[in-house]
Amino acid sequence: MSKRDYYQILGVAKNASEAEIKKSYRRLAMKYHPDRNTGDVSAEAEKTFKEAKEAYEVLSDAQKRAAYDQFGHAGVDPSMGAGQGFGGGASFSDIFGDVFGDIFGGGRGGGGSRVQRGADLRYNLELSLEDAVTGTSVKIKVPTWVQCGSCGGSGAKKGSSPSTCGTCQGAGQVRMQQGFFSVQQTCPTCHGRGTVIEDPCLACRGQGRLQETKTLSVKVPPGVDTGDRIRLAGEGEAGDQGGPPGDLYVQVHVRDHPIFTRDDSHLYCEVPIAFTTAALGGELEVPTLDGKVMLKIPEGTQAGKMFRMRSKGVKPVRGGPQGDLICRVLVETPVKLTEHQRSLLQQLDESLKGGGRKHSPNAHSWVDSVKGFFEKMGL
Ligand SMILES: [Zn+2]
Ligand SMILES: [Zn+2]
Repeated sequence: MSKRDYYQILGVAKNASEAEIKKSYRRLAMKYHPDRNTGDVSAEAEKTFKEAKEAYEVLSDAQKRAAYDQFGHAGVDPSMGAGQGFGGGASFSDIFGDVFGDIFGGGRGGGGSRVQRGADLRYNLELSLEDAVTGTSVKIKVPTWVQCGSCGGSGAKKGSSPSTCGTCQGAGQVRMQQGFFSVQQTCPTCHGRGTVIEDPCLACRGQGRLQETKTLSVKVPPGVDTGDRIRLAGEGEAGDQGGPPGDLYVQVHVRDHPIFTRDDSHLYCEVPIAFTTAALGGELEVPTLDGKVMLKIPEGTQAGKMFRMRSKGVKPVRGGPQGDLICRVLVETPVKLTEHQRSLLQQLDESLKGGGRKHSPNAHSWVDSVKGFFEKMGL
């Protein structure tokens, strides 16, 4: 399957300028674009369009064009990757690197063997707020791939070992003649490993790894929060046929707490107090994550007032000062009053009214504003 020359496809000379290449591609694209070609001619037109597009993508990029000029299709062909062990994500630079690695004296070394690294894993870990703040150690069970014990990850049957690949003689790469150049490519037989398994391990069927549920101990540092990730290097899936393992990422999720709400390093809590305490003042025991503290409620405290307790919040996992605990006071109106209490409150009410605006300045100034508003409206 030989490919047509890119210059020929675009109908330009080898020394064509960027503008000429662009112009020619435009002309072909207009003519053969699938949107413009339907019916019997469409298949042929589409093929021509694709060909032109590919040629243009290479020749319009100075770096790719240079590689193409030097090495032909081998220097740039994206389809070459998949079949020859570059893997699905082979990029141009990978291929380029190989070509130059060969020319500049094989900088890759070690026979260029390529083994597949195991996949990374993600584990969702739910923590209580207390554990997240103080740090903890948890055991988690992770379904994963582990290295096969029977063959030690080689994939070859016990007592045997993978044999040297006949195609590349163990180098993992083969040389191909491309014009004047000898181009080095990943061996298509062993996909770069340099070895082939003739007698596969029965336990893992030649894969070198097995599915298993692994129990791991995770050290959670103090101060973590929802969204933080803990990386356990090398605890992901084992690689294929002895390839290096991936990593395990433990994704932290902190559960809601009945008392505290967290916002970064600060903790918030709402404290309901009796309206008499709000009026008379008093002391109140409030919880913090490291014990109880006394909160002084001054005389005449209004609903919604916030009290800040320095350094009773969270010490952030990435460093920085410990946050505060902020208590917001909710004044609770008494309910289910007895006759006696009701009469006491009525007496209190009389007495407060007797003092004019003195005892409730906010309520009075609000009434004043409302009056002014009504007057302006002529009500
Ligand atoms: Zn095995
Ligand atoms: Zn080989």
